[in-house]
Amino acid sequence: MNVARADGKERNMKIGFIGLGNMGAPMVKRLVAAGHDITGYDVMESAMAALSEVKMDFSNDILTAAREKEVVITMLPNGEVLKGVAEAIIPIMPKGSCFIDCSTVDINTTMQLAKLLKNAAIHVLDAPVSGGVSGAVAGTLTFMVGGSEESFAIGKPLFEIMGQRMIHCGADGAGQAAKICNNMILGVTMIATCEAFALADDLGLDRQKLFDVVSTSSGNSWSMSTYCPAPGVGPKSPSDNDYLPGFSAALMLKDLTLSQQAAEINGTPTRAGKLALELYQDFVKSSKGGALDFSAILNKLSTGQEKNSKRP
Ligand code: NAD
Repeated sequence: MNVARADGKERNMKIGFIGLGNMGAPMVKRLVAAGHDITGYDVMESAMAALSEVKMDFSNDILTAAREKEVVITMLPNGEVLKGVAEAIIPIMPKGSCFIDCSTVDINTTMQLAKLLKNAAIHVLDAPVSGGVSGAVAGTLTFMVGGSEESFAIGKPLFEIMGQRMIHCGADGAGQAAKICNNMILGVTMIATCEAFALADDLGLDRQKLFDVVSTSSGNSWSMSTYCPAPGVGPKSPSDNDYLPGFSAALMLKDLTLSQQAAEINGTPTRAGKLALELYQDFVKSSKGGALDFSAILNKLSTGQEKNSKRP
């Protein structure tokens, strides 16, 4: 869907897209396919080269990606990088344009940038996503969005192209708040699910039987029913593909670090979240630097051996 004009017709938007990595690349492809006029930029030339077949422009410098654009979308690794990018382009972004950050970053950075952007008369949305690379490819991402109603109205038609659901969570920072709360639950439930498989193994309970029971009972969660960490059990997931991500353990560690930072700043007692953070810190140190999918923590928490000797 493109943007409705006052005369009721639709028109393409001039969009700068900064950060063409695992998530940014498939997101940008969907915007191009919908007819938008995109200029992409990434510090890694290889990231831009990988999109050379896509009908879009590329910029060798960050300013060209933002100059005279109605919307700039960022999909970057962390808050520090985002801050550098935003500070570079704010002075040349047109007044009334919109800065949409889809990265997952700390709320403090989001709030500081929102202030800078508003002072420059630029609309701003924090719009982190859930759904991973496969969701970005399929256009089924969920966007959790913070910002004003007016800014949200600018981003909405673009979210509809890149995703399936969008929730306007509240004012600036509310999108990032929702994202880290969601991913704290995800980290904790993945660990609980893996520990349940470890206990089932030691009790001699078949993993498939545990799945059959839990996925239809009160212990169910997305970690069990959709993204089961045990290979060969449940729907296809990274565990069936040697734990290739999916969603890497390094990214889970990043998100749990952000949720714990926010909890500490606000004095919120999140003990399970803290423990999940510590377990992922250990796992990332002891595995391939967190390159495996986050569900591979099953192999750390269980012996990986299904036992029959203690079958009740
Ligand atoms: P990625 O590392 O694949 O992509 C980030 C891109 O940003 C890279 O191509 C990198 O070269 C580029 N970049 C770094 N510094 C830059 C700069 N100064 N200017 C321009 N480009 C720069 O990461 P990703 O997996 O695409 O994740 C992006 C964001 O999305 C992260 O904040 C991540 O937490 C979040 N996220 C990722 C997933 C996932 O499954 N991968 C899911 C949800 C959210």
